[in-house]
Amino acid sequence: MRSKIIFELAKKIEKEANGIRDIKIMHLCGTHEDTITRYNLRSLMPKNLKLLSGPGCPVCIIPDADLQAVFHLIENANVVLTTFGDMARVPFEGKSLFYFKSKGCEVKIVYSIFDALEIAKRSDKPVVHFGIGFETTMPSTALAILDGIENFYVFSSHRFFVPAINHLLSSNIKIDGFINPGHVSTIVGVKAYEKIEIPQVIAGFEPEDVMLAVYQLVKSIKNGENKVFNEYKRAVTYEGNVKAQMVMNEVFERENWDWRGLGVVKDSGGKIRKKYEEYDALKVFEDIFSNFEIKEDPKKRACRCGDVLKGLIEPLECPLFNKVCNPKNPVGPCMVSVEGTCNIWARLGGC
Ligand code: SF4
Repeated sequence: MRSKIIFELAKKIEKEANGIRDIKIMHLCGTHEDTITRYNLRSLMPKNLKLLSGPGCPVCIIPDADLQAVFHLIENANVVLTTFGDMARVPFEGKSLFYFKSKGCEVKIVYSIFDALEIAKRSDKPVVHFGIGFETTMPSTALAILDGIENFYVFSSHRFFVPAINHLLSSNIKIDGFINPGHVSTIVGVKAYEKIEIPQVIAGFEPEDVMLAVYQLVKSIKNGENKVFNEYKRAVTYEGNVKAQMVMNEVFERENWDWRGLGVVKDSGGKIRKKYEEYDALKVFEDIFSNFEIKEDPKKRACRCGDVLKGLIEPLECPLFNKVCNPKNPVGPCMVSVEGTCNIWARLGGC
């Protein structure tokens, strides 16, 4: 149910946007897309304002190369692989980590990396955790590595999120302002965005938060104010979580890594530092990865996940949406993950 406040904010947005050029605002978080779609907030936007969905789903942006590398590892090494549930459903050439589990490979779904550590303590086989996620999950992975458990390794697919915002700005995608991700912002703080020259609002996840963020962004765009506003003060501080930043930066260094849809994003890759390479699956199993080759998945050629992640199309513009590709039979990760835009639109009826 939408509150009176939401309708009042919709009127304010309409008034503020009246008479200005067409504007595009991108949000950067699957939970924001859930709120926008669940409360049908797009229907409250004026005609000259478009709300785009960006690359905020951590499962969706993992490129097929990372997935193939993990498949290669479990096919060729006697390891236990741990990962989060959605990642285990992402298909490549019709196979997924659940497929390998059904064929007898030891794939275990965990809710936290600390579950993976417990498995490693009891296992007589090496345990490799397929680590995904942005600054929200990287500190936990770093802590797990710092625990120094023998037999525990990480295949890092972690990515730093803030460089992706700069990457989007340097691309030819027209964006006038960003709703910055709430969860990531609790870690990185307001200061992480200050040098990015575009209107931005850090927002919470209630529909009122999102409407307030849009209202502030329209005002900033109209006034040419390239500032970052913090609407989510109840969770996000200027400095962010300094301890989490310290532990994350102790273990991970930045590299230029590929993102699905975005291509190579400068300084976005969460590479495990040399100091901790004894926990880095890429290093420990380098013999196995030495004959690994990246392939293309012909079954995914029609999937437009990359364009969905850049806000270039909406899920309804993909010819496979809710036909060949649906939450029960996903073709691409944007339909697999509960944070993926295609999945959210299929479940909640986006328009
Ligand atoms: S609907 Fe499916 S096939 Fe189309 S872009 Fe989304 S995930 Fe890819």
